[in-house]
Amino acid sequence: MFNLKLQDTDLCRLCKETAETPLHLICSCPALMHKRSTLLGKYIIQPEYAKLLPARKVLLFLAVNQCLLRDLDSGVTIYRSRST
Ligand SMILES: [Zn+2]
Repeated sequence: MFNLKLQDTDLCRLCKETAETPLHLICSCPALMHKRSTLLGKYIIQPEYAKLLPARKVLLFLAVNQCLLRDLDSGVTIYRSRST
């Protein structure tokens, strides 16, 4: 998004702690720890380990998070209904 000049900063839109790069999202963004654990098997991934992950898992992880980032950019608030 920063490279497209759609926002003023390159800070991660999810954690606002460091630059939002694919490697940050895949390996260490704290806002994605639960999804990373569920989809990739670890809360934090070392960059050298990320190279060994199956491409389909990484693509699924990025696709799921792309939806989250798109909703964040559009200002959509996601409400979850409580199951009773
Ligand atoms: Zn982040």
